[in-house]
Amino acid sequence: MTIDSGTSRVSQEPEAARERPGFDEISILWISEGMSCDGDTVSMTASDQPSIEDVVLGLIPGLPKVNLYNKVLSPSLGGEDYLVPFRAAARGDLGPFILVIEGSVPNQNIIEGDGYWTSFGNDQETGEPLTLNWWIDQLAPRAWAVVAVGTCATYGGIHAMAGNPTGSMGLADYLGWDFRSQGALPIVNVPGCPIQPENFMETLTWVLYHAAGSAPPPPLDHMLRPQWLFGRTVHEGCDRAAYYEQGDFSRDYNSPKCQVKIGCWGPVVNCNVPKRGWMAGIGGCPNVGGICIGCTMPGFPDAFMPFMDEPTGGSLSSVLIRPYGAFIRRMRGITSMAVNKEPRWRHNRDELTSGYDPHWRAGRESGVR
Ligand code: SF4
Ligand code: SF4
Repeated sequence: MTIDSGTSRVSQEPEAARERPGFDEISILWISEGMSCDGDTVSMTASDQPSIEDVVLGLIPGLPKVNLYNKVLSPSLGGEDYLVPFRAAARGDLGPFILVIEGSVPNQNIIEGDGYWTSFGNDQETGEPLTLNWWIDQLAPRAWAVVAVGTCATYGGIHAMAGNPTGSMGLADYLGWDFRSQGALPIVNVPGCPIQPENFMETLTWVLYHAAGSAPPPPLDHMLRPQWLFGRTVHEGCDRAAYYEQGDFSRDYNSPKCQVKIGCWGPVVNCNVPKRGWMAGIGGCPNVGGICIGCTMPGFPDAFMPFMDEPTGGSLSSVLIRPYGAFIRRMRGITSMAVNKEPRWRHNRDELTSGYDPHWRAGRESGVR
């Protein structure tokens, strides 16, 4: 179809768009029956850019029609009704789908005898519970894309900490870090405990645009995180970093200053929350007074505990920066006093003292050119 632009004939439907190889409709099968608290599902509902409602109602131009199956948000009555698309996918009878896993994956191999750590529905022949591991084995090889949501599903998280009895791990530890989905994508990891709402929805939207054939695969780093979200540290986006640079540190949790000496791990943690805020730019962690505990990181939580102790590297860097910070603070204080005054020519006296020179007026002696 073309329209007359008045100057030239302009195509409204570029050739490339007509020929895109993507899907018009796709399902999202979301399983949170890992070692999970469902916090990532709940967090996702706080996203506004885009919202999950926008996605499932088809309000975002260019996305495929999305059929979301998430137990927290399902309109079904649960039970077998809810399991229908999951069973169909396991049989190979469901069209393209994205598998989303929430929660860490327990190690079934360490169970002696019968039993299971976690399950999702029952085997219809034997009545025995179907484990999360069984579902992953059935669905991951058939999925067009596989997404791990939250730090538990991505890297193991709190449920995989030292001393846990379940041998829990992240999805890439279970499927292999070189896993490729039917859509030739690696696992897409969106860490966070919980996920920052828009971090997840942005990533999902990118995957959906890729499914529609109108975007390249999302760029991921070596830990399979979206690069544009996790490519910078907390510290690089924290609005308390000026205090750090000036060697001015909080001694308690009521101070607006840098919190590195009271437990903040921000300088070495990949996360954008302080820069982005939590909901609609509001909230966060160190930017609003909560130390960063590294909840997005593969080493979380063990590498960061005990949370409220000063990180070792933090004590070294904060000691080194103190003399520089004290000097810079003093110099800035002097400059600040200078620029905190109005110029002397701003007054209401009878004379003009601004230095104005009307040299272009004819007949004026000064400055006729
Ligand atoms: S509070 Fe944490 S993230 Fe913010 S400037 Fe200090 S060390 Fe960096
Ligand atoms: S700033 Fe730190 S504690 Fe907050 S979400 Fe990011 S990694 Fe987690």
